[in-house]
Amino acid sequence: MKKTTKLAALLLSAAMLVSMFTACGNSGSADNGNSQAAGQSSAAQAPAAGSELKFGTNAEFPPFEFVTANGVIGQYDGIDMAIAKQIAEENGKTAVIENMEFDSLLVALQNGQIDAVIAGMTVTDERKESVDFSTPYYTATQVMIVKEDSDIAKASDIADKKICVIQGYTGQTCMDEMGYPYEAFKKGTEAIMELVNGKCDVVVIDSATAAKYVSDNAGLKIVEDPTAFEGEEYAIAVQKGNTELLNMINTAIEKKLADGTISALAAQYAEAAAE
Ligand code: GLN
Repeated sequence: MKKTTKLAALLLSAAMLVSMFTACGNSGSADNGNSQAAGQSSAAQAPAAGSELKFGTNAEFPPFEFVTANGVIGQYDGIDMAIAKQIAEENGKTAVIENMEFDSLLVALQNGQIDAVIAGMTVTDERKESVDFSTPYYTATQVMIVKEDSDIAKASDIADKKICVIQGYTGQTCMDEMGYPYEAFKKGTEAIMELVNGKCDVVVIDSATAAKYVSDNAGLKIVEDPTAFEGEEYAIAVQKGNTELLNMINTAIEKKLADGTISALAAQYAEAAAE
């Protein structure tokens, strides 16, 4: 199917891109927050030892994480879930998933409720103030999902449209930065329903997830605007200063990036998502 191939190619090239971009034009840096200079180590240190590696996610973000009958980790499946499993296995551990709201993930990490966050989470300067990020494993961008007959062609066209975002996602941050009013929803699927039902004109969301929603819902299309939405990088978050765990994760990620495992996973899940 043409759509399938196109989507797979898109995801594959995104996965292979090496860049230092951040969302919608805010200043990025090559430092992924791994420096210990900030002096903000939190009291509770997530344990790196033990037979379990507990990852927090928000399983509402296909193709990175979603709930299904037979996932790679219990009921959880997706690119991130497969990566989490492999990171754990590389270190002789079992990956355990805690599913929670996206907004709760960094708090749960800081509380020591989970060891790491893997949730298609974009590295941002703001998040780097509270957590450390691994080596990035995927490059995405914000895109606009609109109805097929929409005249929206670039980001500035949405200034006076009804914009839907998902709470706590970088799409919301972008709208804040651009100064456009929006309505925030708890789940991507809720925002998409608003769009399908004509209650909003555009949903701003991450590219691969947008591709999945457009393939699942007839009558929608994706509008890209690379001048407004720059690339963003997904990485795994650990507690600030937890270098032992961060090193374990980085070694595994770098190995899986180098041997092509991660781009193969991205392509595989993109194919499945487009079916
Ligand atoms: N990449 C976006 C962010 O970090 C969305 C992630 C997600 O919903 N899982 O905000």
